[in-house]
Amino acid sequence: MFKQRYTYNPETCHYEPHFVSGKKVRNRLMVLMLFSFLLASGCYYFYLQTGEAIDLVQLKQSNRRLKSQWALLQDEMKQQKTELQKFIAEDDQLYRPILEADSLAKTERLAGVGGTLRIPEEVKAYPIIEHSLANALQMKHELTVEYESFEQLQKLVNTKTKQWASRPAIQPIDNQDLVFLYGTFGMRLNPVLGIYRLHKGLDFKAKTGTPIYATGDGEVLDAYYSDSYGNVVYINHGFGFETRYAHMVRFIVNKGEKVKRGQVIGYVGNTGTSAGEHLHYEVLYRGQHINPIHFFQRDLSNQEYQKLLELAKNNNTTLD
Ligand SMILES: [Zn+2]
Repeated sequence: MFKQRYTYNPETCHYEPHFVSGKKVRNRLMVLMLFSFLLASGCYYFYLQTGEAIDLVQLKQSNRRLKSQWALLQDEMKQQKTELQKFIAEDDQLYRPILEADSLAKTERLAGVGGTLRIPEEVKAYPIIEHSLANALQMKHELTVEYESFEQLQKLVNTKTKQWASRPAIQPIDNQDLVFLYGTFGMRLNPVLGIYRLHKGLDFKAKTGTPIYATGDGEVLDAYYSDSYGNVVYINHGFGFETRYAHMVRFIVNKGEKVKRGQVIGYVGNTGTSAGEHLHYEVLYRGQHINPIHFFQRDLSNQEYQKLLELAKNNNTTLD
């Protein structure tokens, strides 16, 4: 509501309405507008200055935090890379030699790295990020190769475990039951036939009824009576190995049966062409007879084994 102003007129001794001229009003309005403009400009300038300062502080804080996190990330990457290199070294220098597998060549480990290191164009503007990303991608590739390598080694372990379990590796007669071992592999005089012929195995002298053990995991290839071998069991161990157990008093496995190393398959006897109770034991590798004496590593100490080898050299007798 507009209020009428009054001024005292000394000449008339009265208060009279005060009128402001249009010019004065315009001038005042101009001054007011100018003042308003200056005030608004000042505020705006102050806002800009203050706002920028706040943004800068926040940016600096954010930058410090990012740098700190970045450093932690780099340390973590270094540690992971060191761990990966340990895995690779163990793979090449420990597991593969044990499993008789060739080491992976460096070229195989790095094969295809160039193709997998696809650095996005926008990242290439930041060398530090590009470098780290390249490192991370290379690690990813090496991990993939290592993972595949371990899968391959696992398959190899399974095969080797089966192979080791199948390989003839013990004596078919327990040392406690053994009366004498005729280490006679090769050309010998046959005591029954009275002629020299190839003696294809070893003769374990033991009492009739002494248990005979399968010397490795396998499958019974045959179990029958033969005029020469008497009651005989053939075991196929796979991986090229076969064993034969002859002159048994009886066998207790059948053709096609799976057997485990150390399983009793029959008992010592004197059947077939035999000059006394004993087990005639043969080992074949890829169809060729080999000296079973080389397959007793689980039963003998080094000294006992050397003694056995000496005995085998000098012993010229067989029981069949
Ligand atoms: Zn024999």
